[in-house]
Amino acid sequence: TQTIFSGIQPSGSLTIGNYLGAMKQFPELQDDYDSYFCIVDYHAITVPQDRLKLRERTRSLAALYLACGIDPEKSTLFIQSEVPAHAELSWMLQCVASIGELERMTQFKDKSEGKESVTAGLLTYPPLMAADILLYGTDLVPVGDDQKQHLELTRNLAERFNNRYNNIFNIPDIRIQEVGARVMSLQNPTKKMSKSDDNHKATIFMLDELKQIEKKIKSAVTDSEGIIEYDEENKPGITNLLNIYASFAEKPVEDIVTENQGKGYGDFKQDLAELVQGELEAIQNRYYDLYESDELDDILDHGREKADRVASKMLNKAKKAMGIGRVH
Ligand code: ATP
Ligand code: MG
Repeated sequence: TQTIFSGIQPSGSLTIGNYLGAMKQFPELQDDYDSYFCIVDYHAITVPQDRLKLRERTRSLAALYLACGIDPEKSTLFIQSEVPAHAELSWMLQCVASIGELERMTQFKDKSEGKESVTAGLLTYPPLMAADILLYGTDLVPVGDDQKQHLELTRNLAERFNNRYNNIFNIPDIRIQEVGARVMSLQNPTKKMSKSDDNHKATIFMLDELKQIEKKIKSAVTDSEGIIEYDEENKPGITNLLNIYASFAEKPVEDIVTENQGKGYGDFKQDLAELVQGELEAIQNRYYDLYESDELDDILDHGREKADRVASKMLNKAKKAMGIGRVH
């Protein structure tokens, strides 16, 4: 069987962008793949985090993975920092990557834009992501569209390592959803929705109160035309809502456009709100039970053991290939 790996940062409360672009597809994948789902807390500290909030979000994210249907009998769910091989291989891959190629990453440019000072970790984020993926011999990485460039870099680093040292890494492929791969901000639909966006009106969080979800959708930026049409260029607001609708309804976006022909924006937004509320309510109910449970800790302990076993083997191969430490 093939292996998949995907990580989400505990850098904020999860958004429907994270859900539609990544998490929603995980449960169906775990039946067919050897699956690793990771809470990537070392990635989160590339920007400043409050320590208590970070800890709480890490646990919250674990509960949310499970509430969305990750089955610990089928998948390995674990916390990145609890498996030391990630940080170790990351260092080795930083010594394979060049500063120039890291500076070309659009996420680095976006996240450092306008800042007086950013951490070195923000620049070396992609080699850590490459380590996450390569440690498990990953074949497929299910992520949102924004991670395309990082995955391309992962492939390059793996190939460079294989050619320079020894052929140990599998070259992973990316898996991107047809709809939902790029959910945009509700307030600025030319910008991607992000859990670390300061404008909370722009973002629907998976744990938002149901009333709040309706409010945010109703105040989403559209246009003054009043015609429901799919047009990314000229009608990015309504196009984003159509994509979100199609993604929740699991239907082609053309069908959603046809079904809503002639409808006003107000009614369309109302329908969308109900659809989103319905799906998130069920997840939220499961989430609140899991968050408090001891079962959650058992699952994470178990996940760490399994991940550590697999990752340590690959790390040893990498050390051997590079000549790190003594041979044994
Ligand atoms: P941050 O702003 O802290 O980077 P984020 O919302 O981008 O947070 P990540 O933890 O970086 O979330 O990414 C987790 C997963 O969610 C990745 O697979 C990423 O591609 C996906 N993702 C993030 N934002 C979106 C979005 N707007 N649409 C679709 N997928 C997304
Ligand atoms: Mg991100």
